[in-house]
Amino acid sequence: LVVLEHVDKHFGDLHVLKDVDLTIHAGEVVVLLGPSGAGKSTLCHTVNGLTPIDSGSITIDGRPLPTTDRGLADLRADLGMVFQSFNLFADMTVLENVMYGPVKVRRRPRAEAEEQARHRLARVGMLDHADAMPAQLSGGQQQRVAIARALAMDPKIMLFDEPTSALDPEMISEVLDAMTDLAESGMTMLVVTHEMGFARRAADRIVFMVDGAIVEDTDPETFFTNPRSERAKEFLGKIL
Ligand code: ATP
Ligand code: MG
Repeated sequence: LVVLEHVDKHFGDLHVLKDVDLTIHAGEVVVLLGPSGAGKSTLCHTVNGLTPIDSGSITIDGRPLPTTDRGLADLRADLGMVFQSFNLFADMTVLENVMYGPVKVRRRPRAEAEEQARHRLARVGMLDHADAMPAQLSGGQQQRVAIARALAMDPKIMLFDEPTSALDPEMISEVLDAMTDLAESGMTMLVVTHEMGFARRAADRIVFMVDGAIVEDTDPETFFTNPRSERAKEFLGKIL
């Protein structure tokens, strides 16, 4: 579904992605791990076209990433993104947030969009809060609404960049549970996280990055019990 080949990216003198090859198949959950500064967020941002690459290629569904503004907007409509900072529209209710994309971008009739939005909210356990404003919600609740909003666009793939790292500990599991449900439903997902329990439980594959390069690309059992590289052993030693 998503194929990166020989992707290179520099920020000035900094070489942040080094000859990255990564294939994400439809229905696969790929968890991207690595120390701070490894290039995980940059990699996510290249997939949705937020960060242009220097060389190499990225294709989604066999098509190269678009280069026009219009093409990029269409691409982003097909990719669900949930990032660390909550980015709900503050002046809209929860329900309006989830309806916004389908109505404004997909031009769905409001009644249909509303019914669909209520389903998505139910799926993340937030239907009871449909009429609340984002500021009235906890961080964990806001992230679950952000997931529902992304799902409302029927994305081909969901990208998560540390969706729980700004949350209080007691709210992390409710968001991870929603993500686990999604993973089990067959959604294609690329997830950057430091939550090793989730990674081990939900991932089909672990991709481990250090200094802009992919060091391991393997199944979770192998990664957590028998990593090949010294860097992965060191990383796991610090984190587990
Ligand atoms: P973290 O776990 O801390 O989120 P990360 O693996 O997501 O780290 P990136 O955010 O992708 O790492 O950053 C990789 C490197 O690129 C870092 O050294 C960072 O400082 C640098 N970098 C990221 N974005 C930019 C930018 N817009 N301009 C210049 N340098 C950048
Ligand atoms: Mg990051």
